[in-house]
Amino acid sequence: MSRFVFTLKDADLDLIARRIPNSRLLTFNHESLAENWESKNELILIMALGAAIRIIAPLITTKYKDPKVIVIDSNGENVIPILGAHLGANQSAQEIAQLLAARPIITTSSDLSQSLAIDAFRGFRAIGQVAGFITSTSRGERFKVLNPANHWLPPMLRSKAMDDSGSQLNEVLISNKKSQIEQFLHQDDSTLRVVLIPKNLVLGVGASSDASSDDSRLLLDEVLGIFDITPEALALVATIDKRGNHPAICGLDLPIASFSPSELDKITTPNGNELVRSFVGTTSVAEASALLSSKANQLLIEKQKGPKVTIAIAEALREGHLSICGLGPGSMDLVTPKTIRALLDADVVIGFDGYINQIEHLLNPSQLILSSPIGQETKRAQESLSHLRMGDNVALVASGDPGIYALATLVLELKNELPLEDRQSSSISVLPGVTAGLSAASLLGAPLGHDHCYISLSDLMTPWKIIRKRIEAAAEADFGIVFYNPRSKERNWQLNEALTIIAASRPGTTPIGIVKDAYRPNQEVIVTTLDEINTDIVTMTTTVVVGSSTTFIVDGLMTTPRGYLSK
Ligand code: SAH
Repeated sequence: MSRFVFTLKDADLDLIARRIPNSRLLTFNHESLAENWESKNELILIMALGAAIRIIAPLITTKYKDPKVIVIDSNGENVIPILGAHLGANQSAQEIAQLLAARPIITTSSDLSQSLAIDAFRGFRAIGQVAGFITSTSRGERFKVLNPANHWLPPMLRSKAMDDSGSQLNEVLISNKKSQIEQFLHQDDSTLRVVLIPKNLVLGVGASSDASSDDSRLLLDEVLGIFDITPEALALVATIDKRGNHPAICGLDLPIASFSPSELDKITTPNGNELVRSFVGTTSVAEASALLSSKANQLLIEKQKGPKVTIAIAEALREGHLSICGLGPGSMDLVTPKTIRALLDADVVIGFDGYINQIEHLLNPSQLILSSPIGQETKRAQESLSHLRMGDNVALVASGDPGIYALATLVLELKNELPLEDRQSSSISVLPGVTAGLSAASLLGAPLGHDHCYISLSDLMTPWKIIRKRIEAAAEADFGIVFYNPRSKERNWQLNEALTIIAASRPGTTPIGIVKDAYRPNQEVIVTTLDEINTDIVTMTTTVVVGSSTTFIVDGLMTTPRGYLSK
């Protein structure tokens, strides 16, 4: 966990602090702030903005060295990213504000003008004429993306890279080659140029116990020079566990990953040395730790030897992730924090227009947004899988729960048809949402207090014969029944027929709840009975809940007893 919340000792502030996800709470003092500053954590200060500025002013160095800093006022109403806005602080502020029901105060101009912030792509370091470039793109000026080595590109830029129509003014180069970068940036014309350096190289280091930080730094400089690689492309240093705190490793000023000899020994390396095994328990440290940590299957630079240090470099494997997110019934306070995080972390967000509108305030201009009209479910699922295969972080959104009469099943069916080699490296998570049945039930009281089932009345994909059989079985077994897709303009007889089937085995006094647009501005809730129901008001966005033989109405609310009182 690297998110630290500092408060002055005060119970009310603690209450705010405790609602901030993935964070550790600290009472503010200058020492612990300075310590966490150095380790580049995300720092959240709950205090007045002026006080926060005075406190952090002496610690501020440069953009990429400082941590992200966010200030929250003591009422928990405003969440203000003040440092590292494009390095993730804006997104964190959006996340925290959403969860505190507060306002994120975003002040970066690209976000305000909804234009692309070229320095906001995670995993890239932006150098060159960044500020001028952002101003120029916010004025609508176009740019060209040059990616000669075919590095992974955020989908937003990939879509630009394919655009080679004539009128682009400015240029973005994706590169980790030192000389190429210098040449690109030092051209003598009026084009605005930015280099995005993929920060994805893992440096494996082996060091003898008497090696110094100078030993490793000198060797690294030499090797980067020989291979023409810019140091800003290094993301991580990997080594053996007993060197995890050694000066030759810590002195490199990179995040550290360390592994046990047995973990390293499982990795096949090009230049393993049996002699080394007798000292450290594995044949390779530099190469094996670089390969293990990067998940790459080959090295970019094989072992290079200095007198006391060896180094090797691998490029981290880009692994995509697909989060299939449930947005709940429609109001933002019923979206889970996990889904909010997945949306903020996504490189590409895919969904039906209406759902994208619901979450628009959480999205940002460096994400690719693929919205499509209703009915294009297969296209959305296929797009999600193809972005996943390209190594992207994808959020596919659905209403309610994504696995209930929704897209998650379609994605998994399509995945099942992919060739095996395309399946292994990708991962999918289904993030639950509050499904319509639960939203409707909550507004009706507690109609699902005992056994119940969901039945969709849509016969577009399921033959009516089967739906009919399930209604009969549910009625016969005395289940509470939640009807999804009860009625649309074209499908207007199914609900009446379903109720007729139920009436054969339940009394006319059986309570029925009708919930239209649950947790949306036009919400309507009606509690009625099997005898009295008027199905004309039921629409596509309505859920109908039919009680069981024990369901009754209390002061306008439905309840189906669990049996506690009779125990
Ligand atoms: N995945 C969704 C269900 C999709 S099926 C979920 O888990 O909620 C679509 C049906 O869900 C609609 O026909 C309607 O019956 C129900 N539904 C979805 N949102 C609703 C809402 N806000 N209020 C009432 N019913 C809703």
